Amino acid sequence: NKQVILKDYVSGFPKELDMFVSSNGTMKLKVPEGSNGIVVKNLYLSCDPYMRSRMIKNKAITGNYYIDSFKPGSPILGLGVAKVLDSGNPNFKKGDLVWGRTGWEEYSLITDFQNMFKIQHTEVPMSYYTGILGMPGLTAYAGFYELCSPKKGENVFISTASGAVGQLVGQFAKLLGCYVVGSAGSKEKVDLLKNKFNFNEAFNYKEEPDLDAALERYFPEGIDIYFENVGGKMLDAVLLNMRAHGRIAACGMISQHNLDKPEVLLNMRAHGRIAACGMISQHNLDKPEGVHNLMHLIYKRIRIEGFFVFDYDHLYPKFLELVLPQIAEGKIVYVEDIAEGLESGPAALIRLFSGLNIGKQLVLITQE
Ligand code: NDP
Repeated sequence: NKQVILKDYVSGFPKELDMFVSSNGTMKLKVPEGSNGIVVKNLYLSCDPYMRSRMIKNKAITGNYYIDSFKPGSPILGLGVAKVLDSGNPNFKKGDLVWGRTGWEEYSLITDFQNMFKIQHTEVPMSYYTGILGMPGLTAYAGFYELCSPKKGENVFISTASGAVGQLVGQFAKLLGCYVVGSAGSKEKVDLLKNKFNFNEAFNYKEEPDLDAALERYFPEGIDIYFENVGGKMLDAVLLNMRAHGRIAACGMISQHNLDKPEVLLNMRAHGRIAACGMISQHNLDKPEGVHNLMHLIYKRIRIEGFFVFDYDHLYPKFLELVLPQIAEGKIVYVEDIAEGLESGPAALIRLFSGLNIGKQLVLITQE
């Protein structure tokens, strides 16, 4: 059973050599006596930015963190698409296809069924269950429809817009009749946004010396909805360009993942609420501290809300009901970046942090 192993905890940008592929000999492809687990053959593995935060020991940074760190010397864990080979669980039978939490290895014994879904619709590519029909798809759906209260005609901005989540948010917004602009990190990605995903406008943020000016150019009347994937400087520039009563879905802040000192709310508990009423300490500063433009939360009465996709598992059937026909009718398209073979896993995963992935990054282990 070949596995991708984490060598040690990681600081700074992750490297391919932080992981290695090893064979731990043969694995019995049978569920142990008395276990209600399932043994699966992993077909596709999903590369997701949050996996970087499982490569650190110090969980204090994220406070009420939602998921455990990986163990150095053990296989890394993630989401994937798999086929059931043996089952001790009445809900799964041999031959079933599933997506959910699994190991970065050829075969896994799964005993925790949290976030494990049986695949019912097989008329689409199975790889879609790592992306558009899996966790990133549900993230786009829950973040956009549940948190942003979108309305036809509103101005929507999406950062990291060509990625697994962003490309879908933009297409949802377009189908609703919004004006949609996305930012991405290369010309190829910008072309995709405009020509394949039908965004109204898109720009390469790496070529914009002044993000505030760029946003002002695309949104002379301001932004109603910001789907936040990146944090840092972009969030700062967006705050300056939001309209009154705008909404920000804080989905991810990938620019902060590899920093020693990320911008975090260190001591908040999960589901905490902050009423941004005033920030008097910042009034007289030339350059306010941290994310510099937070005061605009108040000036513009902005609602900003962080969310975690697995709190929205209950919406998965409703999400499928919406998106499956849209895929079948060609109203929604999806771009994937597929690396082949488990050996390519470490390199594929770190592509997310250098922006090399074009669309949803995943690893194909075997098609059946
Ligand atoms: P993507 O497919 O968008 O891949 C990551 C992309 O991030 C890269 O291609 C690159 O795009 C961009 N990026 C990488 N490093 C930086 C950096 N330092 N500064 C700016 N941009 C950077 O990933 P996903 O669509 O899977 O995830 C998008 C965001 O959504 C992430 O922040 C992720 O953590 C978050 N997320 C949150 C979930 C939740 O439950 N809240 C669930 C799933 C995802 P580019 O070339 O355009 O810069």
